[in-house]
Amino acid sequence: MFGSDLKDKVAVITGAASGIGLAVAKCLAAEGAKTCLVDIQEDALEKAVEEINDSGGKAGSIRADLGLESDIESLKRRVDEGYGAADILINNAGLQIVSSIEEFPVDQWDRLINVMLRGAFLCTQNFMPGMAEKGWGRIINIASIHSIVASPFKSAYVSAKHGLIGLTKTAALEAAEKGITVNAISPAYVRTPLVERQIESQAKLHSIPEEQVVKDIMLKPMPQKELIEPEEIGETVLFLCSPAARHINGHNLVIDGGWTIT
Ligand code: NAD
Repeated sequence: MFGSDLKDKVAVITGAASGIGLAVAKCLAAEGAKTCLVDIQEDALEKAVEEINDSGGKAGSIRADLGLESDIESLKRRVDEGYGAADILINNAGLQIVSSIEEFPVDQWDRLINVMLRGAFLCTQNFMPGMAEKGWGRIINIASIHSIVASPFKSAYVSAKHGLIGLTKTAALEAAEKGITVNAISPAYVRTPLVERQIESQAKLHSIPEEQVVKDIMLKPMPQKELIEPEEIGETVLFLCSPAARHINGHNLVIDGGWTIT
């Protein structure tokens, strides 16, 4: 797709046992990349790897907690040994914690920021030098429309995603002359387990059916009133890895059905 030749490129995808990360891994593997799926959920990782290999792709997995510096350092060593230096890094692992600022548990704030912002920084720090040596690399940070707008009760998530855009721009500048591009993708609601959990809890909170949560609450600010499918994010990643995108750098590619233009 998009004339990208990803044959045997090494792609590291964090949070790849589920949702967007899994869809991205499948798309990259379908284009010939050697994919390394990273997550904390071991059983789901195993299943994901099996699924990709059964459909003719190349996949392996490494369990790592992206909130821990030691796990990220060991991830880098194991990728080098088992796959070769990474060409593509997808910083995708994420979680959501919903609470008012007054009641936000500080340990949970730290946990979210550690995984979603510090983890992305540490992965970039560890994998970028190998890409620079090869003179080619693609780093793609899965952000969110919450990198541009805010919602109440999601202070840690919104802060992490806004921060991720700062990291994207800074890394793009530092890598600009090394054949590496660094970009972000910012989707509105994508149909994944993370969102399905939110639909369920909102339905309980407001005592309304789940379909009504999607239509009247989640998609209310989205002119194109549809959930985005995870494969659409995978295909956008392929575009950013393609030759056509070689001068797209430090960009925040928004996929939001028109949400943030209103
Ligand atoms: P998901 O819950 O389906 O997948 C997230 C994955 O990250 C899970 O497999 C989980 O185990 C993994 N993960 C969480 N903490 C981890 C840790 N400490 N170490 C390693 N792995 C960890 O969610 P998703 O919807 O696919 O979200 C993926 C990314 O996309 C997140 O960064 C999320 O913020 C972003 N995003 C999602 C949506 C959406 O609507 N689903 C919209 C915009 C952005």
